[in-house]
Amino acid sequence: SFCWDHPSFLAAQIQFADDMQEFTKFPTKTGRRSLSRSISQSSTDSYSSAASYTDSSDDEVSPREKQQTNSKGSSNFCVKNIKQAEFGRREIEIAEQDMSALISLRKRAQGEKPLAGAKIVGCTHITAQTAVLIETLCALGAQCRWSACNIYSTQNEVAAALAEAGVAVFAWKGESEDDFWWCIDRCVNVDGWQANMILDDGGDLTHWVYKKYPNVFKKIRGIVEESVTGVHRLYQLSKAGKLCVPAMNVNDSVTKQKFDNLYCCRESILDGLKRTTDVMFGGKQVVVCGYGEVGKGCCAALKALGAIVYVTEIDPICALQACMDGFRVVKLSEVIRQVDVVITCTGNKNVVTREHLDRMKNSCIVCNMGHSNTEIDVTSLRTPELTWERVRSQVDHVIWPDGKRVVLLAEGRLLNLSCSTVPTFVLSITATTQALALIELYNAPEGRYKQDVYLLPKKMDEYVASLHLPSFDAHLTELTDDQAKYLGLNKNGPFKPNYYRSVSAGAGSRWGHLPALGQ
Ligand code: NAD
Repeated sequence: SFCWDHPSFLAAQIQFADDMQEFTKFPTKTGRRSLSRSISQSSTDSYSSAASYTDSSDDEVSPREKQQTNSKGSSNFCVKNIKQAEFGRREIEIAEQDMSALISLRKRAQGEKPLAGAKIVGCTHITAQTAVLIETLCALGAQCRWSACNIYSTQNEVAAALAEAGVAVFAWKGESEDDFWWCIDRCVNVDGWQANMILDDGGDLTHWVYKKYPNVFKKIRGIVEESVTGVHRLYQLSKAGKLCVPAMNVNDSVTKQKFDNLYCCRESILDGLKRTTDVMFGGKQVVVCGYGEVGKGCCAALKALGAIVYVTEIDPICALQACMDGFRVVKLSEVIRQVDVVITCTGNKNVVTREHLDRMKNSCIVCNMGHSNTEIDVTSLRTPELTWERVRSQVDHVIWPDGKRVVLLAEGRLLNLSCSTVPTFVLSITATTQALALIELYNAPEGRYKQDVYLLPKKMDEYVASLHLPSFDAHLTELTDDQAKYLGLNKNGPFKPNYYRSVSAGAGSRWGHLPALGQ
């Protein structure tokens, strides 16, 4: 059984990365104009995962101008159209089917209410999946006020369903930057209600509170942050000695990393390529740059569909793993003339250069699965001799003077987030991790967490995974007392040391007392 306050949940602190984005670069003035300039990149990236219902009767009147009430007479929300609530409820119910871990968390904690008294201010994508998270937090005893972390990603009908259910939600699809900060402000700046927990995705909410309402931090017990960007900001604050509450870095939890990077990409690479190009994979020659978690996922999927897959790597260990998995490891220049598809997933920059692009064959598809749009040198394609033709949404043909066309997807931005959906099951892992991180920070005894950034304790990471096992009717083997003693483990976990997180699929040590050797 799960104990909310387990003493072994001592979180592991992790090292600061040197190249973290500077939180202090944010504007120091607190006016709306100056703050609106600091809107994070992630809050404006177009995000197509949320298929949104649009009602043709929706007028162009800003939701801020509308007077709306839910069926209980409350107007403590601001959404596009409260009348869409019923449709949104169906979307949430569909998402619940693949998020059984959160549902079982609700059931397990029904009596205990581990978030009783928690006042959570949240800023995440507002989709059916996050609605399941928000409603779980409410079921565990929390009061929630919510805004969107991205101006495009809100599913209006889902926001309406949340508002109808009594959640104070301030979000709609297509907010202006001014709306974006207004919504965040409406969540934080409330008479008679003060947040004591923050759940953020991208760091904009934390930034707003930090700049506009620093006193709120006196009551805040902790921040839970999901995104790479937000985590970077937190580390930067911590490094500067300015972080005044404990924060949990959900992004780097083992379960999240594995599912987001490996399994999610294994599924969504094909989805993104198919939706944009209708390409047939059988017999196609594909080169995947980078054989980390994302590269491994992409290669496995492409190989399964009969593509001939080449890998490029800089790291001999990952290169050797690629060899063991049956892929030819090559330099990009060796295969660039013959391949049909080029996929980058290195997290690096200028992996595909103008020289490579010049040498590609006609109709070669080029796309990126890495975090930023720096992997393909797209800027080098914006020269007068090349013609750009937008053939579909997110698909450009770049045409050379001799008629050769290169098919560039999502202008070199993340293919799967721009052009396909993310499986609900993957989002369930992240949402469960966020819920447990909130529970842990809210219930932690004084002194367990200092003003620093922590990773979710290993044991809770294991708990997230175990909550997802029943979906597969998977039966876990229990250690005998004798076996536990032999391995030097507690029978209830944790089953791996903290550094085991650095071990990638198929590599590294199984034995806790040996240092991990893999990547
Ligand atoms: P990783 O560090 O495990 O793998 C990256 C690999 O690229 C490493 O093995 C590295 O040696 C190799 N590499 C670096 N420079 C290279 C170069 N010039 N040529 C060839 N190989 C090179 O990282 P990961 O978890 O696989 O993530 C890769 C990128 O994808 C990151 O930017 C990450 O943020 C992003 N990501 C994307 C998604 C998605 O949904 N598309 C999900 C998670 C992560």
